[in-house]
Amino acid sequence: DDASSTGGATAADELLGGLLVPGFDRSPCRSRYETSHYFKHSPFAPSSYLLRKLRAYEARHKRCGPGTPLYAKSVEHLRSGGRVEVDAAMECNYLVWLPYNGLGNRMMSLVSTFLYALLTDRVVLVHSPADFTDLFCEPFPDATWVLPPDFPIANLSKLGQNPDQSYRNLLDTKKIIVNEPYVFLNLGHERDIDKMFYCRDDQLVLAKVKWLLVYSDVYFVPSLYSMGEFHGELHRLFPAVESVSHLLARYLLHPTNSVWGLVTRYYDSYLADAKQRIGVQIRMFNFARIPVDDMYHQILACSRQEHILPEIDGDEDDLGTTKNGTTNSDATDAVATAGGPTTAILIASLYADYYERLRSRYYEHAAKGGATTVSVFQPSHEEVQVEGRRGHNQKALAEIYLLSFSEVLLTSGTSTFGYMSSSLAGLRPVMLYPARGHKVPKPPCVRLVTMEPCLHRPASMECQANVVDKEFLARHVMVCEDEGLGIKLF
Ligand code: GDP
Repeated sequence: DDASSTGGATAADELLGGLLVPGFDRSPCRSRYETSHYFKHSPFAPSSYLLRKLRAYEARHKRCGPGTPLYAKSVEHLRSGGRVEVDAAMECNYLVWLPYNGLGNRMMSLVSTFLYALLTDRVVLVHSPADFTDLFCEPFPDATWVLPPDFPIANLSKLGQNPDQSYRNLLDTKKIIVNEPYVFLNLGHERDIDKMFYCRDDQLVLAKVKWLLVYSDVYFVPSLYSMGEFHGELHRLFPAVESVSHLLARYLLHPTNSVWGLVTRYYDSYLADAKQRIGVQIRMFNFARIPVDDMYHQILACSRQEHILPEIDGDEDDLGTTKNGTTNSDATDAVATAGGPTTAILIASLYADYYERLRSRYYEHAAKGGATTVSVFQPSHEEVQVEGRRGHNQKALAEIYLLSFSEVLLTSGTSTFGYMSSSLAGLRPVMLYPARGHKVPKPPCVRLVTMEPCLHRPASMECQANVVDKEFLARHVMVCEDEGLGIKLF
């Protein structure tokens, strides 16, 4: 499964190998049919089984989604506390996805929730508070996935980690779950996680509950692979295990026109003419905070180790500051390439420091040999992570997409922002190790063997009932390079 490039798209690829259906009106969501012209790699074609499953999902969503009689009946059932009978023949079952944490986290949990819906024949509805609007287009034809505002469960944004209706609490109070109008599932990584969710007997019970609320900020797909009952289906859906997040993210997560405007204006202005685009995503977490100079050195050391950024003439250890006496003899001989820079480095970071240093680096030094001209760009530097502001999330999404249009990616360990750009790009990134204990990591980075995101804290499986294919897990589930407690698919 070599993640090799297939080059730019032709008109025929607009549907991403059949992932997307034709016939959507183009103007409300331009990105849907345009991303194919920007992606550089499409290493995995969707299986025909996945395509059939997606078409069946779309039909189900159209039948059961908001605005349909079946939706109205299902809501009535919920409003009555489960007392109003629903005709079994007209069964529609739902997953209400609740946004939580940063945008990368949200995208990963949404993708995971969608896969769970495919596996269990449910319909995904998205709770969209103000900061989650105008980010993603409607993904399904002739239907909406936005949870209507008159949904009977109030205060969805304030339920917290472990409300009374959490699966855990319901089990503790020995309620008969199938009679519950809805069940709240915490599939995140906090201590209130509903571990029993991953057990087969519990799946049989939950299958009878019409409304499931999913609260999660993680990519829980690796845990779905650990559940014996889904194995056959997952194998048919994704013959290449590494393709799950790549295909599902491209299927599901289309930026709205506002975001797509940011993306395409930036790309067309600064990146389009380059021969090669190198995306560099620098994330500084509190648990791994190190001084900017140290991080910059780590980036350069990694770049040297994995041959990411163009090398420069002169000082090997430059810090982006002018060094007296450094002359770039080759620079004078360099042949400037007409029609734009050869290499464009796109930085995504909350801070401007790395952009400043890298830009100075290629201003003050010629690239080795002088044959390459290097430009450095950074669309925004928001300085602090904000929750609950739409404009901030829109920029984050724009940058995740801009990174995904790179030929080469250098991302930051444990960052879901980076995970999502790699998945969308269809690229195995080089990843900077997080500076645990605030120590500059050695080696600085690692070239990943999979583009699948890491599940940082998998729920410990506490059930005997699962029939797990141990051999499969050994071949396709590995410990994450950037998080020793995490697992991921490869
Ligand atoms: P993670 O924390 O790295 O796993 O990624 P998340 O996306 O879940 O949360 C980080 C949030 O911080 C993002 O959603 C953005 O709001 C913000 N953020 C972090 N890095 C960047 C960046 O490079 N560019 C922009 N625009 N925002 C960022």
